[in-house]
Amino acid sequence: MAPAPKCMQRALSSLWLCLACVLFNSSVYAQDNPVGAARADSKTGNNAEFLAAADEVLQQMSEITGLKLLTPLKKSLRSREEIRAYVIKQMNEEKNPAERYADARTAEAFGLLPKGFDLDTFMVNVLTEQIEGLYDPKGQEFYIADWSAPDEQRMVMAHELTHALEDQHFHIEAWSRAARPNEDAELARDAVLEGSAMAAMVDYLMQGTGRSLKDLPEFDPSMLFDQLDMQNTPALKSAPPFLKDALIFPYISGLNFSASVLKNTGWPALSGVFEKPPVSTQQILHPAFYKSGKTPASVLLPPLEKTLGKDWAKLDENILGEFGWKEVLKQFLDDGRAKSLAAAWDGDRYITYEQRETKKLLLVTRLHLDSEEHAARFFGQYSEALEKKHAQRSNLLRRPNFFQFDTPEGSSFLYCFGESCVTMEGATRKLFDAFTKGSDWPSAPLPPEHPAAAPEKTAALFFPFFSAAQAAR
Ligand SMILES: [Zn+2]
Repeated sequence: MAPAPKCMQRALSSLWLCLACVLFNSSVYAQDNPVGAARADSKTGNNAEFLAAADEVLQQMSEITGLKLLTPLKKSLRSREEIRAYVIKQMNEEKNPAERYADARTAEAFGLLPKGFDLDTFMVNVLTEQIEGLYDPKGQEFYIADWSAPDEQRMVMAHELTHALEDQHFHIEAWSRAARPNEDAELARDAVLEGSAMAAMVDYLMQGTGRSLKDLPEFDPSMLFDQLDMQNTPALKSAPPFLKDALIFPYISGLNFSASVLKNTGWPALSGVFEKPPVSTQQILHPAFYKSGKTPASVLLPPLEKTLGKDWAKLDENILGEFGWKEVLKQFLDDGRAKSLAAAWDGDRYITYEQRETKKLLLVTRLHLDSEEHAARFFGQYSEALEKKHAQRSNLLRRPNFFQFDTPEGSSFLYCFGESCVTMEGATRKLFDAFTKGSDWPSAPLPPEHPAAAPEKTAALFFPFFSAAQAAR
């Protein structure tokens, strides 16, 4: 499950306009052009003026980024209908309907989207609401919306034309896709693309002020949403928090990442990022990990198909990453705890299955934390999250490193061992036991009706510091 389909992460011009408002509080952008307000009638100048402006901005972006224009660029003005058609076409090409269904249901299983949320319609609405311009890497063409006001057009051009220049040098679509199937790594690469285009746009806007990107403080994404809420962006405003965060992540976290990477050497450092891409959203969120080369552990899940039987179909398997886990935790814990707990992420893998007839979901995840202590913290806080997520619980079994309960949708499990934790929701005990066996983990403690299993002892063996804490009570 990509946190948000990629086409969603392109061309969110209103966010950039908001950023400009934040950067230049008293600028013309803020004063004269209420961002996102209906501008259907504010037709831009004629085509010749547009082409001349685009050539001028392209030249400036080439100077800012040091990327030469290698071949002439195609550019055109597009109507709302044309842009809408482009967005739908992109969405269909990015993932087929089955893959998009799997994305939405996986987000639902994690608690990131409400049940039955119509992600396709939302995406088309939010994108057509937001788009002011875009660069199409497939056709290698720059489009600008014909309803954009001329002042805003230049800022949109600064961003989009950076994509165009990067594409000529680094073939951005193939470069981003090379991270597949790891969607966490692909999102990290998208953050490089959007973040560097934002960084170039900031430098463009700051031309002549004597300041540049490196003089600015780190951006807090929530700052932008405070601005956005005042704007006429109903689709985005009503979006579930996860989608808002997923939409903004490549732009703002990507911008902070770019600012950090470009800090000392400036734009010549950019080609190094394309040569050695970040491997995870964790490296985007913590550029120091990118610089030190910290890579996540590779996490595997044993195949469960045999135990599940033919009734169940696998929907999705991927890596959620620090960004995704932060979003999951935020649904049930406060932002501060979610952020700090997610920062202990050191690799994960999840699989979602769907029961063919009933459409019931089964979610299996395995996380690797950066220490045993953090695995214990994850256990404590995620058991709290699971309780918030499942209001109807019965037959609770709680041990120092194991938590199990039943819900009307199946049983939930959380089990930590060493630096790893595994979760299952919508499962059965038989399935959970198949997991522990397939992963060479010690059997999980059994409910009290099986006293022979001596659950506390099992736990004490594998989670010594937790048990010691219990004994001290
Ligand atoms: Zn962009």
